[in-house]
Amino acid sequence: MWIWWFWSCLALCTADEYRDQAVRIMSEVPLIDGHNDLPWQILTKFQGKLQDQKANLTYLEGTHTNIPKLKKGFVGGQFWSAYVPCDTQNKDAVKKTLEQIDLIHRMCQMYPETFMYATRSSDIRQAFTQKKVASLIGVEGGHSIDSSLGVLRTMYSLGMRYMTLTHSCNTPWADNWLVDKGNDKAQSNGLSLFGKEVVKEMNRLGVMIDLSHVSEATMKAVLNLSQAPVIFSHSSAYRLCAHKRNVPDNILQMVNKTRSLVMVNFYNDYVSCKKDANLSQVADHLDYIKNTAGPGAVGFGGDYDGVENVPTGLEDVSTYPDLIAELLRRKWTVTEVKDALAYNLLRVFEEVEKVSNHSALPNENRITYTELEGNCKTHFGFPDHSHQHLPGVLPAVLTFLLSLWLL
Ligand SMILES: [Zn+2]
Repeated sequence: MWIWWFWSCLALCTADEYRDQAVRIMSEVPLIDGHNDLPWQILTKFQGKLQDQKANLTYLEGTHTNIPKLKKGFVGGQFWSAYVPCDTQNKDAVKKTLEQIDLIHRMCQMYPETFMYATRSSDIRQAFTQKKVASLIGVEGGHSIDSSLGVLRTMYSLGMRYMTLTHSCNTPWADNWLVDKGNDKAQSNGLSLFGKEVVKEMNRLGVMIDLSHVSEATMKAVLNLSQAPVIFSHSSAYRLCAHKRNVPDNILQMVNKTRSLVMVNFYNDYVSCKKDANLSQVADHLDYIKNTAGPGAVGFGGDYDGVENVPTGLEDVSTYPDLIAELLRRKWTVTEVKDALAYNLLRVFEEVEKVSNHSALPNENRITYTELEGNCKTHFGFPDHSHQHLPGVLPAVLTFLLSLWLL
């Protein structure tokens, strides 16, 4: 009996020790998370109205994220997702994305004691010292720019600091993960010529390129082309859960070579490939990516409020310290933990900023009119389009006149 008591106490005491150490580390170096869909929850639950009494972020219920939970979880940096679904592609994607960007701005203005709007890596460090949540904007899906470098630049001006090249649909210039699943057809074999221009312009601006949701061919094309490291803002390891949203081993090697970053997703479907998952399985993904791509390549991208099922033990954003305690229990060094928490993302962001070049001229290339899809498009600004149609129209008119003359 005594021995049983001794061992159970030892196990409990040790567990608490790791939890305490996690809290100590996170008080110094808080966590930067790559992907949170709270803005989408605000849109769908409250029509984007932050002033709705029930949308008060201090008391908000029924979501993974609210202000007390963020504080309890030691979240010091958050990429808020300006996400609009693929249904909006070629329709009102740009407008709806701008509205979500506006929502994130309004969030920061409404809770200045909690959120600090951030656009630079140095802003994140400043937010850490002020114990605020550095709030950055990530646009999830290339459909949001409607194949326009002008829209890309405008969204950069409005604070977008990463863009996921696709969501779960192809754009006219980049293929999505459903191509690898066989549900969508490959259109661009990774990136089209215009897709390559998008990547180069993102490098020039200093927008991080996010490869979560893209096809493997797109991952390879970007990793070979980008002058700066890239991120996977919310993806896990394919080797542990064979879901095409996850990152396969050969790509993890390229991540290592390019000093890029994989921020692990907590969605059960990507963690265990089953309906249920637990904290320990998420730690397995973190371990695996650290061991395969290196300790400089691992981070956190919980996907909170963007998914239905999250693992037992990681129910909401307040639980991050429990995951860090598990990593410490698995003999991660303090340096490795701090890197995964924040320094890896800060390093990638700083390298992206270094590669950016605002004195270089903006890229004025346009996608061709024929590459565009959907019916809601006019031909203004597409001289190639009118030229293309001239040879077709001219003979038709001449034939018509000739037939009139013959009559
Ligand atoms: Zn996503």
